[in-house]
Amino acid sequence: MSDCIFCKINSKEIPCDLLYEDEKCSAFKDIQPKAKTHILIIPKKHIHSIAEMEEGDELIVGHLVRVAKEIAAKKGLSGYKLNINVGKDGGQEIFHLHIHLLSNS
Ligand code: AMP
Ligand code: ZN
Repeated sequence: MSDCIFCKINSKEIPCDLLYEDEKCSAFKDIQPKAKTHILIIPKKHIHSIAEMEEGDELIVGHLVRVAKEIAAKKGLSGYKLNINVGKDGGQEIFHLHIHLLSNS
């Protein structure tokens, strides 16, 4: 997706505050944090949203959740919230699937 901002972050066309990367995903700080800790975990594959998941994508989404909990553990977060907005009416603004990792610790 050539016009997708998160694809451009994955390809390093757009810089970000990268915290973690592997062959399946990237994790970086949200540019407009809504909590003391606000990290986005995104797949390398362009998936529009949870609503557009295809067969097999559950492996990617499961991986994103595992990476989120590993980042939270590494940062020593005492508690956190994982949030996925789905669709315009679900508050999604960027149509490249992402998990928000939010914490007040
Ligand atoms: P959503 O509303 O679920 O689509 O969330 C999109 C999130 O992406 C928002 O919290 C934005 O602050 C964040 N965001 C937008 N552009 C960037 C960027 N270039 N780097 C990091 N986070 C971004
Ligand atoms: Zn994308």
